[in-house]
Amino acid sequence: MSDAVATNAHEATRDELDRLAREELRRITSIREQGRELSPRDRLAIPSQDMPCQDSRARSRNMSEVAEGYSEAQARLEAERCLDCKNAPCVAGCPVRVDIPLFIKKIREGDFLEAARAIKRTNLLPSICGRVCPQEVQCQATCTLGKSLKSVDKAVQIGRLERWVADHERACGACDLPDVGRPSGRRVAIVGSGPAGLTTAIDLRREGHEVVVYEAFQKAGGVMVYGIPEFRLPKALVATEAGVLGDMGVRYELNFLVGRTRRLGDLLSKDGFDAVFVGAGAGLPKFMEMPGENLVGVFSANEYLTRANLMRAYDRERAATPIYPSRRVAVLGGGNVAMDSARMALRLGAEEVRVLYRRTRAEMPARAEEVGHAMEEGIVFDFLTSPTRVIGNKDGRAEALEILSYALGEPDSSGRRSPVPIKGSERIEAFDTVIVAIGNESNPLLARTSPDLKVDRRGHILVDERQKTSIDRVYAGGDIVLGAATVILAMGEGRRAAGAINDLLG
Ligand code: FAD
Ligand code: SF4
Repeated sequence: MSDAVATNAHEATRDELDRLAREELRRITSIREQGRELSPRDRLAIPSQDMPCQDSRARSRNMSEVAEGYSEAQARLEAERCLDCKNAPCVAGCPVRVDIPLFIKKIREGDFLEAARAIKRTNLLPSICGRVCPQEVQCQATCTLGKSLKSVDKAVQIGRLERWVADHERACGACDLPDVGRPSGRRVAIVGSGPAGLTTAIDLRREGHEVVVYEAFQKAGGVMVYGIPEFRLPKALVATEAGVLGDMGVRYELNFLVGRTRRLGDLLSKDGFDAVFVGAGAGLPKFMEMPGENLVGVFSANEYLTRANLMRAYDRERAATPIYPSRRVAVLGGGNVAMDSARMALRLGAEEVRVLYRRTRAEMPARAEEVGHAMEEGIVFDFLTSPTRVIGNKDGRAEALEILSYALGEPDSSGRRSPVPIKGSERIEAFDTVIVAIGNESNPLLARTSPDLKVDRRGHILVDERQKTSIDRVYAGGDIVLGAATVILAMGEGRRAAGAINDLLG
């Protein structure tokens, strides 16, 4: 079953959306000029602001950011929708507890820099979180306005406002650095520079501890740099937000693989660190375990996206890796990583990209917005299908997939209806590139080289409620503990670990 329906809900231009927002703001100003404040009913009637996006045809062939960001009028108008609830359920829905009503109130008052300060008290990566956090299942899922209007899509667009405030602050060149405490004489090593490691590093520097971040790759930022594509999260933004740490005195040791260049235990016993935080992520790709997966032209999503992002495969003049020429691409999986891989393949020049998923759209774990964007760009979805083998040519290159059709059966342990193969439905379809995007696991290197480090059967490090591992003075958080999760959950774990380390060293 194929689904190539385009959803063009976001195709109004930035200028049109801005003009409509200005008109609505004028109406609100005239209400206030009559000496009346907006009632909750007035606020409920203000239309939710759509995100302006690049035209879908143009963007499917360029790497520039898809979402263009609110104009000032749109941000002010969206802020007018907030009911400033006393109990603020949105804050409870945010893993790092940003004071959401306060920052939105500051936007309403036109005090945009104060709005940025309010966010950054608990979240130093607002440009990133405003772009990639799944707000629809976090702060926006609990928003009173969305509940009153019976649709999470109608909740206050908290993420878009966060993004606008952070972008505005950067455009003004007014980014405040967090205060760094007096030197404590204590030293902490951080393994991994993803959102978990960066958040831990910031909170430790605030207390005056010396912090060194060890990163296996040549750039800091973790999946935010090598996984999430440029067209969703510009790398210059990650560099700016990660650069704040350098300005705070955090030292980066890049191209440094802990477990090989140095063992975990050596950081404590030989290098004089007082504590270690492990935020090494879940970077080991899973495969389907089907025949033909070792053929040329079959990639893990990790490898495919890393080549494109970190090694700029798309930038033919300056690329550090050759681009694999693809004509017809199959992406296997239904999550955000599958959406990113499919959209990247299109931008790298593929003529046709198909996503093969064993269930239906309703069961897809990817964010609805990302699926909608992929469909708008022309990616075709083959639901209720999955391959059984990759077929190669005489040169060992992939040239086709054998594909099986599925029907939905009874719900499984995840609550989703399980896919049941339909006997005799096998067929062969030509594909020269196959991208496997069915999830990631933890890299076993650290556990293998530190036998005292307790992990579960999937290799996730076991921690207590304050993120402490089985090794004294070693803490862990983010995907290496949770399995593949989200940026903000990784940040939340980093914050908790930093609190525990600060208590240990305090
Ligand atoms: P990571 O970001 O994985 O960072 C770990 C870092 O540790 C890496 O840089 C790695 O090189 C380094 N490292 C590993 N081992 C060692 C070692 N032994 N020594 C030194 N360094 C080491 N989340 C969202 O919230 N929204 C999204 O839209 C989203 N999209 C995603 C798209 C893709 C393609 C992928 C792969 C993930 C996406 N995620 C998204 C998930 C999110 O990026 C992760 O949950 C998050 O980055 C985890 O943070 P972390 O700090 O635990 O690990
Ligand atoms: Fe505003 Fe929604 Fe938070 Fe209430 S729950 S304060 S309406 S963002």
